[in-house]
Amino acid sequence: MRITIDTDVCIGAGQCALTAPGVFTQDDDGFSELLPGREDGAGDPMLREAVRACPVQAITVADD
Ligand code: SF4
Repeated sequence: MRITIDTDVCIGAGQCALTAPGVFTQDDDGFSELLPGREDGAGDPMLREAVRACPVQAITVADD
């Protein structure tokens, strides 16, 4: 599994970091980024919910 954040689309709403704080964080400008070592989601049960919560569908999850 591999998570991708389209930074051209992300508006910094922060829903991903609120929903799955074990996977996502926000950079200094408020845009989403993955926590170190969590590029594969680390089995976080809230990952799919965070994908759904993003208002601009900036997060995609690809199964390996
Ligand atoms: S929820 Fe979507 S728009 Fe908001 S910070 Fe996360 S990726 Fe960006």
